[in-house]
Amino acid sequence: MIKINFEVFTRTLEKIENTTSQNEMVSIISRLLKDSEAEEIDMVCYLVLGRIAPGYEDINLGLSEKTVQSAISIASGVSKSQVEEETRNLGDIGEVAGKIIKKTQNPFKECFGYTGELSIKDIFQGLRKIASTGGKGSQDIKKKILASMLIEADETGRRYIARLAEGTMRLGVGDMTILNALSLAFLGSKRKKPVLEHAYNISSDIGLIAKVLKAEGIKGVNQIEITINRPIKAMLAQRVSNFEDIRKKIRSRDIAAEEKFDGERIQTHKDGKNIKLYSRRLTDVTSQFPDLVENIKKYVKVEKVILDGEAMAYDFENDLFGSFQILMQRRRKYDVKEYRKKIPVKYMLFDVLYVDGNSFMHTSYPQRREKLERVLEESKYIALASRRVSSDLDNIDDFFQECINKNLEGIVCKSCAEDSYYRAGGRDWTWIKWKKEYISKLSDTLDLVIIGAYAGRGRRSGTYGALLCASYNHHDDTFETVSKLGTGFSDKQLAAMPEKLADARVDKNPARVVVNKEMEPDFWFDPEYVVEVLGSEITKSPVHTCKWREDEKQGMALRFPRFIRWREEKSPEQATTSDEILQMYKGA
Ligand code: AMP
Repeated sequence: MIKINFEVFTRTLEKIENTTSQNEMVSIISRLLKDSEAEEIDMVCYLVLGRIAPGYEDINLGLSEKTVQSAISIASGVSKSQVEEETRNLGDIGEVAGKIIKKTQNPFKECFGYTGELSIKDIFQGLRKIASTGGKGSQDIKKKILASMLIEADETGRRYIARLAEGTMRLGVGDMTILNALSLAFLGSKRKKPVLEHAYNISSDIGLIAKVLKAEGIKGVNQIEITINRPIKAMLAQRVSNFEDIRKKIRSRDIAAEEKFDGERIQTHKDGKNIKLYSRRLTDVTSQFPDLVENIKKYVKVEKVILDGEAMAYDFENDLFGSFQILMQRRRKYDVKEYRKKIPVKYMLFDVLYVDGNSFMHTSYPQRREKLERVLEESKYIALASRRVSSDLDNIDDFFQECINKNLEGIVCKSCAEDSYYRAGGRDWTWIKWKKEYISKLSDTLDLVIIGAYAGRGRRSGTYGALLCASYNHHDDTFETVSKLGTGFSDKQLAAMPEKLADARVDKNPARVVVNKEMEPDFWFDPEYVVEVLGSEITKSPVHTCKWREDEKQGMALRFPRFIRWREEKSPEQATTSDEILQMYKGA
């Protein structure tokens, strides 16, 4: 049975949009989820997130602004140029749709098979139909379906339908917010979220978890298993500030030091001849790497497997790894063929999570490595991360120097203990990274989320003078400010900044962003863009909210930050956490 009608749903979206409190946002969503039936709760989750499928599915709704404008024009009878004019005036396609379209006879009814009162399922299916319509004449059909939905909805509904279609919902809700809301709705408290988080880390599908939780309770959720074609959240590495600490933190006698590659993390799902590649953000990047797909088919010797590794730009003539910046040119939808030739890649594997029906997540690292060596036939194009296993730190240091000489970033030291399992989405002491920046004592880099900007003056007028950056508080699912970043950009990067960040601009403090009055920026951004920043030290701060202590009225700040590069492959929730910053402050 479907319970949630679209009008009720969009009233709730309005409430979510209007709150600036994270707690309130969670309670509003939690009530909505409680009221949903098992048949619709997955759709509710996806739509609140502004999607029509789990994030990893390559289902692209994002119609161009022009197409949505055309649909508004045919739904309202208002000329296209007038719709464009209104878009310029109002700055939001949703507002335009809400204002211009009026309820009329629907000439496109047959394009969109709804029945009577609009339900959330009607809209969801309509949007899915838009996404799946392809081929000749498809633009016209897409427009008609959209126009039909816009006519049938009320004013509020039209606002959200237009934004969903354009891919600009931006309610400031993240997957973790939904997990909190599910936990509150069905387990009685947000604190129970970790139980759900595990299922999320191995399935990456919020809709699935919601459905199973509603239908079967927590028992069902605990039985969700890793499955081919559902990406698993990548395991991450811890960091130390002294090399000797690696010995203290890794509890097994032997330490396995592996080459650390600075490329793109790629998780492979192979199901016979069907190969899918997922990025670190768990998006489907298969079409970007046809060469990897071919090589995996050729050199991976099992039917069904999930592999973890890093794609690296590679100069095959001189046998040299290329930099992250070079590889990033492969991040493209067009000219894939040309760039495949221009920037060849080598796939360096370091883990295996699943083979022919068996999960290896709960198997120790030494056993996983052994399995990995057996499933792969090494070649020029696809190889295992080289490593050295030793209990002696000097030996590990020698290996580190060899890696640096090979133009690599450093090493990842891995525990060989019996419980050295693959921790999906976890960052624990069984993997510790050691990079060349650490030894030069230049200090460390952090991946921070841009949540605000200050207007530029003088030479920087017309662009931003500085960016307000935040770390991620993974306990509260919030973003806490830690640094004001104004150096390290080239003039070109600086000039391009407003345009680059435009799609994340919002007009008020997003609900999950915690900022002190003193640091309030001139412009706000939804947490979306991650930058790598080099800083010289971490200190206490009375103005930043990272690890804020109300008794001391102090948080933490990163001093003398310098922009290094964009980290588009990281989602905001994969940025440096506030806990990590505290750890760095303590010199752990
Ligand atoms: P960082 O991005 O600095 O937090 O470093 C951790 C990242 O290093 C991981 O997320 C991987 O993408 C990458 N990495 C490169 N080589 C390895 C390796 N041999 N084992 C594990 N992770 C690796």
